Amino acid sequence: MTATIPTTDAAQAIARLHTDLFIDGQWRPAASGATFTVENPATGAPLTVVADGSADDARLALAAAAAHQADWAATSPRSRSEILYRAYQIIMDRVDEIAAVMTAEMGKPLAEAKGEVAYGAEFFRWFAEEAVRIGGDHTVTGDGNNRVVVSKQPVGPCILITPWNFPLAMGTRKIGPAVAAGCTMVFKPAELTPLTALLLTDILREAGLPDGVLNVVTTTDPGAVVGEWMTSGDARKVSFTGSTEVGKILLGQAAGTVMRTSMELGGNAPFIVCADADVDRAIDGVMVAKMRNMGQACTAANRIFVHRDVLDAFTDKLSARMGGLVVGDGAAVGTQVGPLVEQKATDKVTTLVDDALERGARIVCGGERPDGPGHFYPPTVLTDVDPAADLMHTEIFGPVAAIIPFGTAGGDAKSDDDEVLRLANDTPWGLVGYLYTQDIDRADRLSTDLQVGMVGVNTGLVSNPAAPFGGIKQSGLGREGGRLGIEEFLDIKYVSRPIAR
Ligand code: NAD
Repeated sequence: MTATIPTTDAAQAIARLHTDLFIDGQWRPAASGATFTVENPATGAPLTVVADGSADDARLALAAAAAHQADWAATSPRSRSEILYRAYQIIMDRVDEIAAVMTAEMGKPLAEAKGEVAYGAEFFRWFAEEAVRIGGDHTVTGDGNNRVVVSKQPVGPCILITPWNFPLAMGTRKIGPAVAAGCTMVFKPAELTPLTALLLTDILREAGLPDGVLNVVTTTDPGAVVGEWMTSGDARKVSFTGSTEVGKILLGQAAGTVMRTSMELGGNAPFIVCADADVDRAIDGVMVAKMRNMGQACTAANRIFVHRDVLDAFTDKLSARMGGLVVGDGAAVGTQVGPLVEQKATDKVTTLVDDALERGARIVCGGERPDGPGHFYPPTVLTDVDPAADLMHTEIFGPVAAIIPFGTAGGDAKSDDDEVLRLANDTPWGLVGYLYTQDIDRADRLSTDLQVGMVGVNTGLVSNPAAPFGGIKQSGLGREGGRLGIEEFLDIKYVSRPIAR
């Protein structure tokens, strides 16, 4: 397939990319011959075209994964570990190139893209280490007559589906443990950001991943491709990262074949700044929790609850920091805030801000959307946000910091804590919460009572390959990363053996 002729470093990397489907170790066009265009959100310019797979291609991809499952499961943990470690090294050797491609297709500033490459690669190193540590258990029944031998086996062919906001890390967070566990895979990256995923696929091939273990289908018709996989009966597991809305569709389909599921879904993170917080530290934390990826993260601080004792100081300092950020093309030197991923995203943020203003919020900085080209929205701080405003009940997914005051000035700390907990937990989501306090007992109580899967205490970043990432409530099921990450790709087998006497 011909790629658009390059004019920049990123375009040169993109021109070298394979842009076809990857099935059974072969790059091949979609059966229909269809392609779709990938655009740069900073300019609206086309970057290249990639194969637009259909249900027919999906069928072939899953057939390859199913055919190779037994052989792949029989490989040694050490050999799987070494493939992952080699892939980790190749990624780290090619950080600049991968980051350039990522910035071109989804907009994040180059420095952030490089950070994601290092973060994403680390999942391969982590799971290279976990591959050789898959454990089991061995006990004896209460009556002393039988051995209970518990071992772990790969769950089988897996369906992996990723979103556009972390195009590398969301892939490595699934592929790493699947490879380590001995599962074959069909992988559908997001249609807005297929290029980083195709580059990653080629790196895994170069690292020695055998044919048919990873099969990749890019498509503009995710319902058809994934629907084919979900209903075929050959896949044994689905690992999805994306919106709660799509997660619910997949959970419904998974019921049909009683498939194992991992669901990393949306969030609505509270960021709580208590009266006793170190405000400067809280500002550093909120800048990360809010602005990482231009606010387009499931972990983004969506609702910033600030105690009235520190409200003025926090608001002034935050608006100074937000107002000073440099907005522009992520590929340009010095850019700190890139474009949002597509026009729909800027439209959504605009609508949410308008609604909050109509309900009495005040703009402290930002709020004026520039003309195109590119899907830019300025870093914006809103204060006095009404808890009933729409942006409190949906993911903003943009660079808008919504401040909600709580507590009474100089008031009773216990009742203030109760109030903020009630507000923070008043949501169907439960991915992550952040809290800033210098009182260890308050930190303990709030982190216990926040209804979330992860808590950042005096930090605005919880994502780490060594930690179990995941949510409760409608933020998902299962965990990725950490010691638990590989368990999602393993089945438990118990063998009963009479004890010989
Ligand atoms: P999305 O749900 O629209 O898409 C995610 C993936 O699902 C894409 O690959 C898409 O093509 C695919 N998809 C869409 N419709 C489908 C269907 N009917 N059947 C099967 N697959 C389908 O989400 P998005 O806009 O790409 O990503 C943003 C969302 O992802 C946000 O809600 C964000 O919070 C969430 N997210 C969660 C995590 C986490 O770890 N919890 C991490 C990153 C993003």
